[in-house]
Amino acid sequence: MRNDKTGKLIDVRSDTVTRPSAAMRAAMAAAEVGDDVYGDDPTVNRLQERAAELFGHEAALFAPSGTQSNLIALLAHCQRGDEYLVGQDAHTYKYEAGGGAVLGSIQPQPIAHQADGSLALADIERAIKPDDFHFARSHLLALENTFGGRVLRPAYMEAATGLAHRRGLATHLDGARICNAAVKLGISPREAAKGFDSVSVCLSKGLGAPVGSVLCGSRAFIRQALRWRKMLGGGMRQAGILAAAGLYALEHNIARLADDHENAARLARGLSDIAQLKVTAPETNMVFADIEAEQCLSLENALGRRGILAQVDPHMRIVLHLDVSRTDVDRIIAAFKEFFAA
Ligand SMILES: *Cc1c(COP(=O)(O)O)cnc(C)c1O
Repeated sequence: MRNDKTGKLIDVRSDTVTRPSAAMRAAMAAAEVGDDVYGDDPTVNRLQERAAELFGHEAALFAPSGTQSNLIALLAHCQRGDEYLVGQDAHTYKYEAGGGAVLGSIQPQPIAHQADGSLALADIERAIKPDDFHFARSHLLALENTFGGRVLRPAYMEAATGLAHRRGLATHLDGARICNAAVKLGISPREAAKGFDSVSVCLSKGLGAPVGSVLCGSRAFIRQALRWRKMLGGGMRQAGILAAAGLYALEHNIARLADDHENAARLARGLSDIAQLKVTAPETNMVFADIEAEQCLSLENALGRRGILAQVDPHMRIVLHLDVSRTDVDRIIAAFKEFFAA
C-alpha cells in the first residue's frame, strides 16, 4: 500500500512504527559490544548510565520491551500476595496480558480514571487496604504518563506519590512516553519522573529506536530487577547493537518530540473543520477523533488508497512521530476532507 505520487506510506497507527534513521543505523553498526549477561557490553552499560542520569535514578537496566520492563518492576517491587493500585485503562493493567497476576501472583487493584487521565487521590486513598489478613497487601502505586496522549501535571504526580509513600506504598511510573510529557511541560525528563521509586521508559516509541526500554531505580532495586530480567528471558548477549540505537535516541530524539506535538496540533486544527468528526485538542503526539461507526471501514479504505495507514474505529487515534512530516500531515487532512466531502 504505497502512495502513487511519492511512494511514501504514512503510517499513523502508532509511534512504535518508526524506523531507525540512517544515522541511528550507523551508530548501531559502529557499536562496541560484549556479552551483556556478563555485564561486558560497554554500549549497554553506557545506555544504562545515561538513562539513570537522565531520569534521575542511581541505576538502570536495558530491557527488550516496555511490557517486560514494567513486569520486571512489578516483580521487583511486589511479593506474591501483594497488590498494585493501577488505572483501569493503564497499560500495566489492561495491555500487558495480566503478567503481574499470571507470573507474579500480584493482584491488580484497578481504579477508574478521571477525565484528565489521573486517578483521584481520594480513590487511591480508599483503595489502600488496612493490614488485615482478609486483604491482599497494598504495596505499589503504578501511574502512567503520558496517558492516552495526555500529560499528568507535576503537582498531581507529587501529591499522588507523596500519598503513596506516606501510606507505605512504593511507586512505579510507566513512563513509556515520559519524554513527550517532559517536552510538553518544558521540564527535564528527570523532573517529569520525580517522586517515583522506579520508571520505565520506551526507547522504541516516539524516540525512534527499533527495540527496547530502560527501567530506572535505586541500585538495590536494579540488582533485583536484573535477576527478574534473567528469569523472564530478557538477558541479551551482544545487545550493544540495540543499546546504541537507544543511546542515539536519548541524545538526538527527545527535543524533536516538540515537532510531533506541533504536527498533532496542526492535524487537529485541520480535522476540526470537518462537521462529521469530533476532534479532541491534543496535548502531545496523539489526536483522537470520534467518527460514526458505519463510516469507519470506508474511511480506513479511503485513507489506505491514498497511502495513509490508519486504524479507524469510532474513537480513532492518530499518532504523530518522526516519520510523519508536516507535509504528510497536510496530506492526511486533505484525504479526510476529500472523504467527508464525497
Ligand atoms: C507501548 C507501551 C508499553 C509497552 O511497550 P512495549 O515495548 O510495546 O512492550 C507500556 N506502557 C505504555 C503506556 C505503552 O504505550
